[in-house]
Amino acid sequence: MALQTSTFRKLQQITGKQHCSREKEDLICYSYDAAAKTYLPDVVVFPGNIEEISAVLKLANRDGFAVVPRGAGSGMTGGSVPVDGGAILVMTRFSAIKWIDKGNLVACAEAGVVTSDFHKAVEAQGLFYPPDPSSSEFSTLGGNLAECAGGPRAVKYGVTRDYVLGLEGVLPTGEIIKTGVQTVKSVVGYDLTRLFTGSEGTLCIVASLILRLLPLPETIRTMTAVFDRMETAAETVSDIIQRGIIPRTIEYMDNAAIKCSESKLGPVLPPDAGALLLMEVDGNKNEADAAAGLLEDICMTGGALKVETAESDEQAAALWQARRAISPSLFQYGPDKINEDIVVPRNKIPDMVRKIRELRDKTGLTIVSFGHAGDGNIHFNIMLDKTDPVEFEKAEKTVEALFEYTVALGGSISGEHGIGITKSPFLEKEVGPVELDLMKKIKKVFDPNGILNPGKIFYKTT
Ligand SMILES: Cc1cc2nc3c(=O)[nH]c(=O)nc-3n(C[C@H](O)[C@H](O)[C@H](O)COP(=O)(O)OP(=O)(O)OC[C@H]3O[C@@H](n4cnc5c(N)ncnc54)[C@H](O)[C@@H]3O)c2cc1C
Repeated sequence: MALQTSTFRKLQQITGKQHCSREKEDLICYSYDAAAKTYLPDVVVFPGNIEEISAVLKLANRDGFAVVPRGAGSGMTGGSVPVDGGAILVMTRFSAIKWIDKGNLVACAEAGVVTSDFHKAVEAQGLFYPPDPSSSEFSTLGGNLAECAGGPRAVKYGVTRDYVLGLEGVLPTGEIIKTGVQTVKSVVGYDLTRLFTGSEGTLCIVASLILRLLPLPETIRTMTAVFDRMETAAETVSDIIQRGIIPRTIEYMDNAAIKCSESKLGPVLPPDAGALLLMEVDGNKNEADAAAGLLEDICMTGGALKVETAESDEQAAALWQARRAISPSLFQYGPDKINEDIVVPRNKIPDMVRKIRELRDKTGLTIVSFGHAGDGNIHFNIMLDKTDPVEFEKAEKTVEALFEYTVALGGSISGEHGIGITKSPFLEKEVGPVELDLMKKIKKVFDPNGILNPGKIFYKTT
């Protein structure tokens, strides 16, 4: 149902006319995210404070329209697209880092703060905020919380969930709430902060976050190990973990992924490698050097052709730039992408990599795999032309086979991108009927009128 003009006027009164638009070009700009599924909203609003968010949600319940929170729109599963139309509520005006408490290793930032801006602000004070999605140059802290974002450093430091102590936000019915604490620990009632973290913008709009920090590690060593085969690289990841070393990152790339990066930046990574591991260790200088030496030994014993350590910060930065270039350059292999981010127990990574090769050989599809292998999270991208029905059907069956294999290995169908709309048909492959029913009841308690981000997580059959 299209949004009534009278409702549009009320929204304009809440945010001010300049922060509320239904111009076609604005609606198009906010109709998609990185999953490239497009749904036009009826209106885009840019609230400037928490009271305005509350007023928008109260109006939505009264006038009956959907509200979809949005950070930078870098989500990979369609989480911020308005499948039922309504209002896109863009959080970019919530861009203040409110305080950094160095003594207590805690900070408070608004939800629209860009992740890398937050990194820089705390690092300037000798502090460290580990969650680092490869999108950190543009993703927001609110989007990171809603997706429980991970990133390369999750292998040692964990994911967003491990750093969110509390938040201020607005319930779908418009009440303003504060959850959690500023202290290192607390056990007072149900942990609502944790429930909201990873809830994909379906239970609460987050306005600000209280985040735990760490001291900035003194030294980082960045290394690459080149392998002739994907399987050998994967077995080496498993060996590293079994030997009890926890590097801060172990990123895996197959040859197709390396070629993607090369097409964008030239040969920063060795273009002929069958597979590559990009690894980092950190700590004080002695710890970092000792861990780097051990890593080199394990890689060479595991069958690496070559292990190299970056000799300067610039060289290390170039390697990470090459890693980050992979995802945006995938489209050289096809106009459409099916992107999955399955995660398996780390000793099962070799099985998963073998399965990916088997599926690639059997189907003839172009499959590019890379990702955060150190925590078992492999990004699996099928590049195709979706207008070719035969290829599309083959790709869908491949995804289904991959998900079934993932769950059989004791893994999960999403390590960090969430369910959104693209994975909702597969939720029941992992979540049992009783648990699914419980999740739906929780959603109903928070959002009785189904206003906040409808159509996400739970598959709509009609
Ligand atoms: C090139 C590239 C690399 C990426 N690499 C990684 C990676 O390494 N690790 C990783 O985890 N992800 C990665 N991602 C995915 C994506 O960047 C993350 O999911 C990120 O957390 C999304 O942040 P965003 O601000 O763009 O959120 P959006 O895409 O705008 O929204 C994502 C979800 O969060 C909800 N949301 C947004 N803001 C709020 C809020 N304030 N309150 C409540 N709900 C909200 C939205 O409704 C939506 O459901 C990558 C994406 C790209 C394009």
